[in-house]
Amino acid sequence: EVDGLTLDAETVALDRAHVFHSWSAQARVAPLVVAGGSGSTVWDHAGHTYLDFSSQLVNTNIGHQHPRVVEAIREQAGLLATIAPATANLTRGRAAAAILGHAPDRLTKVFFTNAGADAVENAIRLARLHTGRDKVVSHYRSYHGNTGAAVVATGDWRRVPNEYARGHVHVFGPYLYRSEFWATALEEECERALRHLERIVQCEGPDSVAAILLETVPGTAGVLVPPPGYLAGVREIADRYGIVLILDEVMAGFGRTGEWFAFDAHDVVPDLVTFAKGVNSGYVPAGGVLISSQIAATFDERVFPGGLTYSGHPLAMAAIVAAIGAMEDEGIVENAAAVGRDVLGPGLAELAERQSLVGEVRGTGVFWAVELVADRATREPVAPAVMGAVRAACLARGLLPFVADNRVHVVPPCVVTPDEAREGLALLDEALTEVTTDL
Ligand code: PLP
Repeated sequence: EVDGLTLDAETVALDRAHVFHSWSAQARVAPLVVAGGSGSTVWDHAGHTYLDFSSQLVNTNIGHQHPRVVEAIREQAGLLATIAPATANLTRGRAAAAILGHAPDRLTKVFFTNAGADAVENAIRLARLHTGRDKVVSHYRSYHGNTGAAVVATGDWRRVPNEYARGHVHVFGPYLYRSEFWATALEEECERALRHLERIVQCEGPDSVAAILLETVPGTAGVLVPPPGYLAGVREIADRYGIVLILDEVMAGFGRTGEWFAFDAHDVVPDLVTFAKGVNSGYVPAGGVLISSQIAATFDERVFPGGLTYSGHPLAMAAIVAAIGAMEDEGIVENAAAVGRDVLGPGLAELAERQSLVGEVRGTGVFWAVELVADRATREPVAPAVMGAVRAACLARGLLPFVADNRVHVVPPCVVTPDEAREGLALLDEALTEVTTDL
């Protein structure tokens, strides 16, 4: 215990002295120490454990330290730890085949990247070169990564200080709870959002629009599951104007929604799909783009002007093959669907009734958002200080939450057990009670 406390103190001291943190004012960061993890649990050196209801950045779909994935990385490291992307490598081919095995038939090729943002960069590049057009239409309520075009395609505040890429246009997507369209019913919201999108495309000049880029289920922006018919409607608009449809499945893919791909539940087949995170749960950084045969054919005789030293890195590829194999063999995607349907969905609905701070809960699978409001009638979001208190109250009880704006996202690993899910909800419930009492 004493050694653990010492190591925790050393960890914090080194971090604060030398590590520059993402999206933060450096003097304000107070990182949680994590020394180890297993399944849905992480712990510090001193032995404090936390039920991981964040999946870190919503990426450890298979949980921490899945033995099959760890072993596959170890084995690949012994065999061949790195190799250039221009080579043919068996593990890389198997990883591509494993991913495409869960995708619609018209997606036939994979371009591997290092993570999600560069997957989005390359999807945009593919769409621009394929169409010979320039503009990219995406949602205001979205996050697509922190690099050049991806961060400018992003809709949230992070775009604004980074607006150095050109050709990006934003629209509002459906979000009934905070409707931009004065809608009062889901169908109305859907219809008006589609009409808005089509009008923007028309006004921007359809012949100048290369791609519509959407998260299938906007994640960081609030787990905004699209209403039935929205994505099919977007597909129709894209087809009407010869626009490439890119669905960003970086967060929503590989089990998060209880489906292999989130779009499986939405009757739509995209032209390009970006993925990362859950494809191998981030055990080794990896991402990529699934490419339709039609777009891939554009580059049969024409050079694709893009590449990365570590595209298809063998350690990442081995982790993909093992992660997908384990997810298939252990029914992990089915588990995510069942936990969402039987525990998280009903449990969060009850929580929403009991807790006056909760304005809305929404989600699917192991992908939920609990939106906290100061006033249920006006739907005014709670102040940031309240979110800080909720986070602290969760951590004090051994629950690691994912907090974004005025929301707690309930996003445990896809391997979370029904008992762990119930335990996490009970801890969140207690934390909300404590914060409400203190208000
Ligand atoms: N796209 C979506 C939908 C994401 O949620 C994220 C990350 O959260 C990204 C892209 C960027 O991925 P990365 O951080 O791996 O670059």
